[in-house]
Amino acid sequence: EQTGCKEIVFSSSATVYGSENPSPCHEGMPKGSCTNPYGWTKSMMEQILQDASVADKELSVVLLRYFNPIGAHESGRIGEDPQGIPNNLMPYVSQVAVGKREKLTIFGGDYDTPDGTCLRDYIHVMDLAEGHVRAVEFCAHHHGTEIINLGTGQPYSVLDIVNTFQNVNHIKVAYEIGPRRAGDLPVIYSDAHKAERVLGWKAKRNLADMCRDSWNWQKNNPNGYKR
Ligand code: UDP
Repeated sequence: EQTGCKEIVFSSSATVYGSENPSPCHEGMPKGSCTNPYGWTKSMMEQILQDASVADKELSVVLLRYFNPIGAHESGRIGEDPQGIPNNLMPYVSQVAVGKREKLTIFGGDYDTPDGTCLRDYIHVMDLAEGHVRAVEFCAHHHGTEIINLGTGQPYSVLDIVNTFQNVNHIKVAYEIGPRRAGDLPVIYSDAHKAERVLGWKAKRNLADMCRDSWNWQKNNPNGYKR
């Protein structure tokens, strides 16, 4: 309000769908109860922005619900550099491949899914970036709040990620199946139609592209941004 900002594109998360909503998750579904504090920060921020846009009719808000962004810039010069032990799957896989970690632990192999590992909707970070550009453009001629999923609509398992990464990059990723991680949902993926309808945006890159670009970044920058 103090800066006169009337357009906000917010980075929200698929985690706000919670465990109650069956996949594919669409934007018309009520939010669920989050399984972790991070999820609640997203859910609460969504609520605040939504209420603010009701109070201020000039406000234009787009809530982008990210599914699982992975990959890196195609140049291999911009990528993910988590500090400490990676929590997310793809940086862990890349760090095992580059020799920084011994092996990946797959959190649970006994879920009710085709191969027993969890299903997620992975999206290339450059597709995600392009979705943001469209959202910013959309804000300029829109008022109120619009909720939009950024995903591909295509679920993949943890083993799909490991296998595709190995095949595309011709490199071994040691792994073992371990216990489930608390708070993990067995399956969550998007209904990606609204983004196409409202923003004219659709993810273009496939899982092989995501695995190739993640590895390209990691192998060129084994220590991330540190020289
Ligand atoms: N995962 C895993 N081992 C890891 C990190 C993640 O098996 O070291 C699994 C995790 O259980 C989930 C999937 O990979 O099924 C994606 O996890 P991530 O943390 O990247 O995203 P989120 O849980 O937020 O969907």
